[in-house]
Amino acid sequence: MVIEDKQSLCILFISLTFYFMSKQGKFLKPFPRAEISSSALQNNLAVLRQQASASQVMAVVKANGYGHGLLNVANCLVNADGFGLARLEEALELRAGGVKARLLLLEGFFRSTDLPLLVAHDIDTVVHHDSQIEMLEQVKLTKPVTVWLKVDSGMHRLGVTPEQFAAVYVRLMACHNVAKPIHLMTHFACADEPDNHYTAVQMAAFNELTAGLPGFRTLANSAGALYWPKSQGDWIRPGIALYGVSPVAGDCGANHGLVPAMNLVSRLIAVRDHKANQPVGYGCYWTAKQDTRLGVVAIGYGDGYPRNAPEGTPVWVNGRRVPIVGRVSMDMLTVDLGQDAKDNVGDDVLLWGQALPVEEVAERIGTIAYELVTKLTPRVAVCLA
Ligand SMILES: *Cc1c(COP(=O)(O)O)cnc(C)c1O
Repeated sequence: MVIEDKQSLCILFISLTFYFMSKQGKFLKPFPRAEISSSALQNNLAVLRQQASASQVMAVVKANGYGHGLLNVANCLVNADGFGLARLEEALELRAGGVKARLLLLEGFFRSTDLPLLVAHDIDTVVHHDSQIEMLEQVKLTKPVTVWLKVDSGMHRLGVTPEQFAAVYVRLMACHNVAKPIHLMTHFACADEPDNHYTAVQMAAFNELTAGLPGFRTLANSAGALYWPKSQGDWIRPGIALYGVSPVAGDCGANHGLVPAMNLVSRLIAVRDHKANQPVGYGCYWTAKQDTRLGVVAIGYGDGYPRNAPEGTPVWVNGRRVPIVGRVSMDMLTVDLGQDAKDNVGDDVLLWGQALPVEEVAERIGTIAYELVTKLTPRVAVCLA
């Protein structure tokens, strides 16, 4: 190609610049954003299948897929045998999005008017309480509903007690609106403590109560599936592990071959020279001990990054950890990049993800990874990567 005049040369130059910048995503990618890795999700499902090879997998995608996007996750996990939800609205969203797999409401239905929707959209429900049985007995349905009877084996939050169990079971068997067989479920209080004997006590109580009955059995959340192989049953119900995160304190998903599915990314919007003995941010909460350079990151509690993150909580910039300093504000936080920092405005900052485990960030902040990933606000763009 021969370039004939200055104008074409100029246009060529601008187009090339634009092309390369958009290839780097400089123009296209919003921030802050939660980049969701479909290969990580698929890897984690495969790891759990391998861990529980005799069980089907009910991928738990409540709370907007633990903040990863309900339909994003369901579409990445097309191989899951079913999906677990907390609310009817979540199940309806999956059906509207074309998901055909088994769906289970883990807390069951709340109103009698929910029941025709369960039938119309082929959604299974947990039954854990008398009030639900009354509704099932009184409603008129065109088809029976698939029920998973929840047994309280020791957590004492939801479920029928061992004393109530036999009578409830007989009542459900007699109910025309309940499909047979009835499936059986329980939930662990302490499975995330691998040395806590209470999980074995719960398993024994559940197994004794349900011995000889037909139907599926499901006991295990992520911690059960990873740490209590005898709890795996016909279906495991992993949530957090699917997202690449360990449910166990002091542990990390990578120890199990899990890959973090979310990279929470924002960028530096200012880099500033900062003098020793000068404070930064609201309340002048932190003061520099020496001259340094501070970075201002466009993320704050308005995005779901916790305000109570203490000084020293790490973020990942250009291949290294740097500490948060000063208070996290609504839209920004400040980090100490160090005296000789070469970082620039526009550089990406990772708040948690593959290079910086969310388990570790959560521990610094005094919470659990579950809370961090589910509490992101709608201002954070959730995008499949
Ligand atoms: C949320 C939930 C799960 C998943 O728990 P994880 O710890 O995230 O694996 C499983 N079962 C029930 C009943 C739940 O409510």
